[in-house]
Amino acid sequence: MRTALVNGRLLTGEGITNGRTLLLSGGRIEALADPQDPRCRDAVTVDLAGQLLLPGFIDVQVNGGGGVLFNDEPSPESIRAIGAAHRRFGTTGFLPTLISDDLDTIGRAIAAVQSSLDAGMPGVLGIHIEGPYLNWARRGVHDSKHLRQLDGGSVSLLSRLRNGRTVLTLAPEMTTPEIVAELVASGILVSAGHSDASYAETTAAIAQGLRGFTHLFNAMGRLEPREPGIVGAALYDENTWCGFIVDGHHVDPIMLKLALRCKRHDRFMLVTDAMPAVGSAASTFVLQGRTIRVVDGICRDENGTLAGTALDMAAAVRNAVSLLGLDVTEAARMASEYPAEFLGLGHELGRIAPGYRANLVLLDDEFKVQRTWIEGLASVD
Ligand SMILES: [Zn+2]
Repeated sequence: MRTALVNGRLLTGEGITNGRTLLLSGGRIEALADPQDPRCRDAVTVDLAGQLLLPGFIDVQVNGGGGVLFNDEPSPESIRAIGAAHRRFGTTGFLPTLISDDLDTIGRAIAAVQSSLDAGMPGVLGIHIEGPYLNWARRGVHDSKHLRQLDGGSVSLLSRLRNGRTVLTLAPEMTTPEIVAELVASGILVSAGHSDASYAETTAAIAQGLRGFTHLFNAMGRLEPREPGIVGAALYDENTWCGFIVDGHHVDPIMLKLALRCKRHDRFMLVTDAMPAVGSAASTFVLQGRTIRVVDGICRDENGTLAGTALDMAAAVRNAVSLLGLDVTEAARMASEYPAEFLGLGHELGRIAPGYRANLVLLDDEFKVQRTWIEGLASVD
């Protein structure tokens, strides 16, 4: 069956275009067609009423949503609930993210994502394993009892997922460049975070295939006059990607604007780092035995440490426009095309173009999500 999305403003490679009909077929984008195209005649027509149609958002860091924390119960049911909560805010592709835990829980989390992928669960692209190979001094809310060095013995566990992407956040100083190379060779996308690595330690990891930086600036050593450190390496290296939390609380917008001046914008991606609070009315949740309070959209533990966010992707895009001064096309690409490229999925996700998977989000004039499609199937309103 063919679907024709008519009368929308579409974000394409040329920017926002009017007057084109988007034809979907077999879960893919078939064509950007002229409204008179004969293929439109036998299609189910959906009138987008002049609203903005973007590639569906891709979030590579999602700890929870809808009142569910992935660490609490790493199961396909949890993943489904988290995905459903975030889909209401435009996310059509995501990595359930496990924060530092024991190896048995990591194994169960990978198995749960594998089951979800095998069952074709909408939106699941893989897993993000954040820790436990993190620097104690930069642990944030990660439980120090789980933190450890990464030796070669865990590579086979960490690279177990098939047919999906695995992102591993580690502190480069908690392992060796040789093991980073081994992880990369086994297909893992290695991202540096929760780290005090020196510039030399970080660039040694980059030379072995380190691909990105997790929530740039947060839980990282500082730029210093005689030690650029991990942040200096992240900003100076042209090829690696950086995750941005744009909630107005985690990082001063000026810091993010400075980062954007350092390298190509297609190396930055919006992430939520979301906790169960997204898509839930509850004002508290429990993180590994600690009560986290959500006040004015900010999640903190009893010591005041930031504990992830209550940010959703639609809000992240709005904030990228209002706080960082980006135009909507660039903000939208940071939430779709660029994370797709980070994941090595830029050939099939993150753009409105023929042949791409039909993952889409429709926004009104206030950037509120009206509808989403995953593989051509519309969300139920
Ligand atoms: Zn983190």
